[in-house]
Parts: sequence; C-alpha cells; structure tokens
Amino acid sequence: MPEEQDHGRRTAAQGSRIDTYIDRYAARAAGMVASEIRALFAVASRPEVVSLAGGMPYVTALPLDAVGELVADLVARRGTVALQYGSAQGDPHLREQICDFMRLEGIDAAPDDVVVTVGSQQALDLITRIFIDPGDVVLAEGPSYVGALGTFAAYQASVVHVDMDDEGLIPEVLAETIASLDRAGRRIKFLYTVPTFQNPAGVTLSAARRHQVLEICRRAGVLVVEDNPYGLLGFDGEPMRALRADDPEGVVYLGSFSKTLAPGFRVGWALAPHAVRDKLVLALESAVLSHSSFTQLAVGQYLATQPWREQIKAFRELYRERRDTLLGALEALMPPGCSWTRPAGGFFVWLTLPEGLDSKAMLPRAVAERVAFVPGTGFYADAAGVRNMRLSYCYPEPERIREGVRRLAGVVQQDLLL
Ligand code: PMP
Repeated sequence: MPEEQDHGRRTAAQGSRIDTYIDRYAARAAGMVASEIRALFAVASRPEVVSLAGGMPYVTALPLDAVGELVADLVARRGTVALQYGSAQGDPHLREQICDFMRLEGIDAAPDDVVVTVGSQQALDLITRIFIDPGDVVLAEGPSYVGALGTFAAYQASVVHVDMDDEGLIPEVLAETIASLDRAGRRIKFLYTVPTFQNPAGVTLSAARRHQVLEICRRAGVLVVEDNPYGLLGFDGEPMRALRADDPEGVVYLGSFSKTLAPGFRVGWALAPHAVRDKLVLALESAVLSHSSFTQLAVGQYLATQPWREQIKAFRELYRERRDTLLGALEALMPPGCSWTRPAGGFFVWLTLPEGLDSKAMLPRAVAERVAFVPGTGFYADAAGVRNMRLSYCYPEPERIREGVRRLAGVVQQDLLL
C-alpha cells in the first residue's frame, strides 16, 4: 500500500476509533481493558464533585519546601550519581534504609534481599511475570486491589477469590479453596493478600489468623505475596507485625513509599527469598534497565534528613480525623439497610447497599448529584460486588466528606424508592 494511502487509513481509523490492529495483538492484550467507569471519573474530577473515589494520598500535608531544598542539594552534591544509570537491584544505601523502615513491622531483612521497584505496582507486575503462565491460579481476597487484578489479567492468571470478614481472610475458606483447587488439578502459584488496612475493604487480618494463613500456605506449598503499602498508617497502637516477619522463606513482601511519603517518587520495593529476588532483578532489568537513580536518591535523602516518623504520625492523625468524619456521617445519614466496615487505618471503607441495589447503576446518578465512589464490581475478577462500593476518605477535607455522604445518602434513598 502506498505510504500516503496507509497514512490516510490510520488517520481515518484514529478518527473513527476503529482499531486496525485488532487481529494482531498478543492474546494477553485481551485482558488489558480500560475500566468502564473511567469516563465517569473524568466528570468526577470536576471541583464541584466530592470524590470519595480515588485513593490519592494527601500530599499537600508534606513539607514541600524541605523536599524542594533536598532535591536541589542532591543535584548540587551528587548530581553525577543521581543523573546516571544505577544498579538494577536499586541503590544500596536506600535498600539499607528500607530494611530499617521494615523493622517497624517486625521484619529482619538484609539489604541484599531487597529489590527497589517503580512503586509496588511494578513489584506486582514482576512477581506475576516470573510466576504466572496463562491459566495458573492466583488466590486473592474477595474483594481485592483493582491494580493487582489488572496485572493478573494482563498475564492471563485465573483469579480465585477467598472470602473475608471483619478480621480479614477466613482461614477455613482459604484451606477449603486450596483443597478443592488441588482436587481439580489446578496450579496455584501464590496467594496475593493485603493483610493490613486492605484496599478496598479497609479490614485487617487479625494476629491469630496471620499464623493460620501462613501455616495453611506453608503446608500447601503456596507462596504468599504480602502487599503492604498502608501498614504504618494505623490509627491505634503499634504497627501490626508483617506476615513476612514470621516466614522469610514463604513470603514475598511488597512495600511502598507512596502512602508514607509521596506516590510521585514512584519508589516501592520487593523483599524476597534469594532465588526469587534473583529472578525479580533479571525481570526488572529487562523491563526498565534500572529504576530512576534520581528518585531513589531523593527518597534516601528525605529519609536521612527529614523527620519522617513525625511526618507519618501527622498523616495518621489527618487520616484518622477523616475516617472518623466519614464513619460519623455514614452513621448519621445513610438509610437503614446499609452496612460498612470500620477501618483501623489506611484509606478505605467498604459499603454494602441494601438487597436489590446496584452500585454501578447508581454511579451516574451519584455523579449528577456531585458525589463519586468506586463501584464494588471492579474489585472482583468474577461478577461479585454489585451491592458494594469503595469510599475513600484520604483526600477530601472533612467538611467535603460530610457533604459527599449527605449527597450519597440522598441518592441511595432515591434508589430505594425506585
Ligand atoms: N497495592 C495496593 C494495595 C495499593 O492500594 C496501591 C496503590 N493504590 C498499590 C499497591 C500501588 O502503589 P504504588 O505503585 O504507588 O506503590
């Protein structure tokens, strides 16, 4: 085909949004689909809409001037390192600092077992890439983190959900699910869990259940992938002991500075048994050669020079006030028949609507009333979650949270009358 004609064809196709490459994608691309609710969220990001939808950390609370100074200082003093390629495994000094950070959750780890990643999202991608063949089973809480489900779908994993209650994953259900998959000859590659202040459910796996879950997985030879970006954002008492603290060989731990510092740095990490770590480093190298030296050193500089423990405490207090505001408003305003979780940390509340209601169908009406949430179905790989929604309290100011719940309660009330 002459070049100009081909070009014309593409331009027309772009205009009409017909995908002329549709028959050429790899099979795995079939699992890469845009969220149906993305278009609504474009509307939901208008200032008049109270968004209880996004899980964006409140970075406004950071000492932005101090961060600006440390970045300038970094370039002045260590610019030739910060602007150069770095090691695929990640900056050695930052990996030491990450080990100090994880000690707060009872983890005793060596910097050599840490791989620095582009947020914990990249760690999720790499773990899935090295373990999953199409059709392999990943066990995940029901509901589970939408970003992880997207990654699992991209690698054609088959996700099997395990029920939770207010204490997190139910060990008996986990054991039964593993047994029935074994009987069916299915290959379970790992359990993906967010045990602390779960996204989206806001629940935390109790200490007693942590041991049971580890024991069940150990006996069945199932690797545990513990995703823990919210662990230090608890509102009461000391941080929970991480699963990884009690089973270094059976758990890959994923951490992130996105919630305790800022997601814009895109610095997360994986802590893995030696052999898995080696595969992760090779997979990372093939994906991106190496992480950004610049942001790794900036995070390292922040940890070395700023009062980060106080900053995390300030975040906890801010989020606690917002959690209290959301729970108080739900209690005061939601119609009877609704129920919701009461998170002890993190960003999210999981709400269940009365029988017969559908949160996805409700969303356009909610957006018209200037409030947004995430419908529950996005957090399941099957068709569950119709009556659920995720409400985030991390970003809006308390006054706006109250107003958002007032609007939402009105929409639910109207739906009940339909
Ligand atoms: N895991 C969970 C449970 C999350 O909530 C998030 C962020 N929403 C991530 C992983 C990814 O975070 P990041 O890549 O910014 O570290």
